[in-house]
Amino acid sequence: MASRQAGAAVLDQAGRLQGEGAVVRLILLGPPGAGKGTQAARIVQRWPIPHISTGEMFRRAVDDDTPLGQQVRQYMESGQLVPDELVVQMVRRRLHEPDCAQGFLLDGFPRTRPQAEALDQLLEEMGQRLDAVLLLEVPDELILERITGRRMDPETGTIYHLKYNPPPPEVLPRLVQRPDDTEETCRKRLAKYHRETEAVIPYYEQRGLLRRIDGTRDPDQVTEQIFQVLGVPQ
Ligand code: ADP
Ligand code: ADP
Repeated sequence: MASRQAGAAVLDQAGRLQGEGAVVRLILLGPPGAGKGTQAARIVQRWPIPHISTGEMFRRAVDDDTPLGQQVRQYMESGQLVPDELVVQMVRRRLHEPDCAQGFLLDGFPRTRPQAEALDQLLEEMGQRLDAVLLLEVPDELILERITGRRMDPETGTIYHLKYNPPPPEVLPRLVQRPDDTEETCRKRLAKYHRETEAVIPYYEQRGLLRRIDGTRDPDQVTEQIFQVLGVPQ
């Protein structure tokens, strides 16, 4: 049986998790535009765990105009946080889906102290525990440029940046920009991050789960540091 400690996970020669019961439960934390989505895509290539992005789930609900989408649209477009009950309810349902038996990578959740407490309670009910919380640290002055230059390929879900991760020319015409990736909304989201989400950092630090990652380096170096702190051989 594999250990549930990320640093002692059972790995094959390529560094992939192997063996029945090998489970990794991770959280990616950090300001908007820190690179959470970019790094999540790389982590799940290595570990076969679902990438659960609450922002993506809400965006899909808004695009599909579901009742949930109608409830959250306004909050998202104005750079506000969606109320905790709605987020927690959605995550609760998601974590009960069968693919989460192998673990999960949460991206963008928890974002408030009550969400972190609700997650703890939920995991306790499910007899599970977290392995690590990866905090991508990027100072405010770099965030605005990252957010306003972000573009997404709707066909593949790949995240590009006009300057830092330029798309191939054939992909360029179909790229989309998130409606909340404007300068004004970005400032509001950043203020929210400092006011509400940062309170989650000491919460996990006290539990010995927090791992600080330098998010200012280039994406490959950030990935390298993530695997290094998780004890995965390069
Ligand atoms: P970013 O990638 O910029 O960090 P996300 O894609 O994670 O942003 O989230 C987009 C928006 O979705 C947020 O601004 C907020 O309105 C909503 N949202 C996502 N996750 C949460 C959460 N855990 N709690 C409250 N609101 C959330
Ligand atoms: P988040 O999910 O935290 O909001 P993203 O992964 O979407 O962040 O990244 C935000 C933008 O910054 C994207 O355009 C992405 O291509 C770019 N980006 C991500 N990581 C880096 C990095 N290490 N250096 C420079 N740009 C980056």
